[in-house]
Amino acid sequence: MPVFALKKKRFSKFISKLTKSYEVIAPVKEDVVKFQQIQDADEIHFEKNSFFPVKEYFFRKQETIFTFDGNKITVPAFKTPSRVFFGIRRCDLNAIAHQDVVFKGAKDPYYTEAREKSILIGYHCDEAPSPYCFCGSLELAEFFDLMFFDKEDYFLVETGSQKGENFVKKYMGLFSKTDKKISARDRFILGADRLEKKDIKEFYDHPDWKKGVDVCLSCSACTNLCPTCYCFELHDEVNISKPSTGERKRTWSSCQVQEFTKVAGDHVFRKDREERFKHRIYHQLQYFKEKNGVDLCVGCGRCVEGCPTRIDFVQILNEMK
Ligand code: SF4
Ligand code: SF4
Repeated sequence: MPVFALKKKRFSKFISKLTKSYEVIAPVKEDVVKFQQIQDADEIHFEKNSFFPVKEYFFRKQETIFTFDGNKITVPAFKTPSRVFFGIRRCDLNAIAHQDVVFKGAKDPYYTEAREKSILIGYHCDEAPSPYCFCGSLELAEFFDLMFFDKEDYFLVETGSQKGENFVKKYMGLFSKTDKKISARDRFILGADRLEKKDIKEFYDHPDWKKGVDVCLSCSACTNLCPTCYCFELHDEVNISKPSTGERKRTWSSCQVQEFTKVAGDHVFRKDREERFKHRIYHQLQYFKEKNGVDLCVGCGRCVEGCPTRIDFVQILNEMK
């Protein structure tokens, strides 16, 4: 795909122009780094990846699926603005691709609307921004509308989709043409391959899982922070003052809580913490791949960094013999 250049002295103007037509979302440093709306290029934090992933902009924490009044069902109008996401790292871009498989595959109208109205601009990591990253151990794809490679006084900008090419054309006054190509060296990320490649199937009954399970609190921080986890639950909220009215809501859920597999008759399919803990890892590194041909996990390391007891499943897996 074509490559362009954007001089850094034009970057502020670029962001400023975008804010006239789009809601611009980028990593900003507050108590932690997180994606939020910006008005100015100076707000962008380039050094670290966001502590929270961007998934909540597409798969919202809570969504009203419909409201009801007796037998009358009303589906609320979608309200997603057109957004440009700037500064998404390679892991998180792939996480969006994996969530597309799930939600666009299921023709989820809420997710699809939010995705179609988004432009994804990546920011390449020359070096792993956290000691927990392991994207280099996984087979990630080149998935973006545009990817920015930081080159001292300019950005090399690779287009990755027709949407990305059209976007560059729209702002062509700021970009310039270049003969430069993106090399394998440009794409390399230093220090991001700490998960040893192995087939984890044979380790399901390994006693070393206890190292993680014994200190797991089933708190769900790992699944909430994960850019690829997509479990949810549906429930009805009824208005007490008029019980024939209310709304059906979809909210994030987690395979780490015992109630997640509770079904009618009070049966719970993953009662033990060990089953739940291993299910998360095997879903990320085996089950999803068996179904969709790609690991669900993208190696961002958030589930380790954000775990209150710092359970490092990568280290646990690496030490299993
Ligand atoms: S964040 Fe850590 S303690 Fe909490 S459920 Fe996940 S693995 Fe267990
Ligand atoms: S399982 Fe952990 S490392 Fe993998 S994508 Fe989710 S949060 Fe990132």
